[in-house]
Amino acid sequence: MQRLQMLINGQWVDSISKNLATIRNPANQEPVAEIPIGTRDDARLALEAAYRAFPQWAKTTAQQRGIILHEGARLVRKRLDEIARLLTLEQGKPLKDAKKEILFAAEVLDYYAEEGKRIFGEVVPTTSPFIRSFVIKQPIGVAALITPWNFPVDLLAWKVAPALAAGCTIVTKPPSAAPLAATVFIGAIHDAGAPPGVVNVVLGPGREVGAELVENPISRRIAFTGESSTGKWIMERASQRLKRVSLELGGQCPLIVCKDASLEKAVASGVRRAFSNMGQICISVNRIYVANEIADEFIAKFVERTRALKIGNGLDKDVDLGPMFNEETRQKTREHIADALRKGAKLLYGGREPEGKEYKLGFFFLPTVLIDVNHSMKVMKEETFGPVAPIMRFRALDEALELANDTPYGLAAYIFTNNLDTAIYAAEKLEAGGIGINVNDVSELQAPFGGWKESGLGRELSHYGLESYLEIKHVRLELQENIW
Ligand code: NAD
Repeated sequence: MQRLQMLINGQWVDSISKNLATIRNPANQEPVAEIPIGTRDDARLALEAAYRAFPQWAKTTAQQRGIILHEGARLVRKRLDEIARLLTLEQGKPLKDAKKEILFAAEVLDYYAEEGKRIFGEVVPTTSPFIRSFVIKQPIGVAALITPWNFPVDLLAWKVAPALAAGCTIVTKPPSAAPLAATVFIGAIHDAGAPPGVVNVVLGPGREVGAELVENPISRRIAFTGESSTGKWIMERASQRLKRVSLELGGQCPLIVCKDASLEKAVASGVRRAFSNMGQICISVNRIYVANEIADEFIAKFVERTRALKIGNGLDKDVDLGPMFNEETRQKTREHIADALRKGAKLLYGGREPEGKEYKLGFFFLPTVLIDVNHSMKVMKEETFGPVAPIMRFRALDEALELANDTPYGLAAYIFTNNLDTAIYAAEKLEAGGIGINVNDVSELQAPFGGWKESGLGRELSHYGLESYLEIKHVRLELQENIW
């Protein structure tokens, strides 16, 4: 069994407590690796190392930081098979999806290696001929980066790359139950030449290690992805010292399918985004609103396509869906389905574990299609974070838009239509940080990603993601009048 350690001040170390946890494969519960269970003291040591390393790192040029990020990306690609395998073993997702995630993380490192060179300032007009005003941008300081288990590598890369490119030093806290691929990913940046203390990893429970990273005065910037409830707690604690915070939180994303949509495309895109990663994606399609005129055909094709998905161990060839991550998310999924059925929904497919001895030990669950749903049901109001597609009919577009916005969340929303006016009208009315028109993904490296309402605060990716690690400073200068 593999044994991983934490990275503190450039050294791979165990926890001060010497306690170990076993990471298990959600497909069969077999042990995959042992990791240290870090404590508040370990987190403190990592923060102190990052604090000591900050002045020197902040002084290096964007070019020098870019060289390390590019080298990190190269090493991540070189270690693709190892990292992707670990990701599948600890998280459950099919190997091809794990590879896609790792490759995107490498791309993010490359992108910010270059974007860091475009941290521009401004020279602004003043009220006096002898005064000059410059606006410069400087790294905020030590950044604490805390991430969840559904995309443990990508969501870390989205934070690590801009933080380092900006000149911040970092302490990362991967998810407690899926820390392996993320730790090896950070190891690649360490091996690429990041000086001791610039990049740190602490492992352990969020309420201890994560809480220390949030509460300790050393951290000046907190980037968090995870549940809305955890995000709210973090914001409250961070407010004690007015730390800079970005939060990428939960979602409850609608897909609207209009009567003029390309049906095959809408079905394929909807099935993929409702069930990939077993619905454990913040921008999953969580609710589908389909125009009455095409609803019967859409539903029939949707079920047919769902039925064809192959479920299994993520390491097996041609698997579309792996297990769910843990029993807790599977149980929540069961409860949401039961709540819907109790309130009058009809089950068209799934709703239970697949049959067969290969599924017995893992957290498998069939992708589930429900109809006759309404907004009194949890599946339409709360984040299930499981493979459930509830489908509701609508008559008029405004009705669908109103239903789509009837949620405290606002991360992503999707609409399928071939009418340009409908598409733009809906895109402007939908309350979400990302809108997909005839496409089932709103993440694009060069564009901002983030949520409205209770889905979050701030943006990741793009130049916005970089700016969130920078402070603005106005420098005002008076010239000597006699030489003018
Ligand atoms: P979570 O909030 O339980 O944990 C996320 C991370 O925070 C983990 O590393 C955890 O150890 C840590 N943590 C927990 N309590 C903490 C505390 N008190 N202080 C500091 N850190 C703490 O979330 P999860 O279950 O790992 O992830 C699933 C959630 O993440 C879902 O709600 C999903 O929608 C959300 N998510 C959002 C996005 C997005 O971009 N908006 C992306 C992926 C996942």
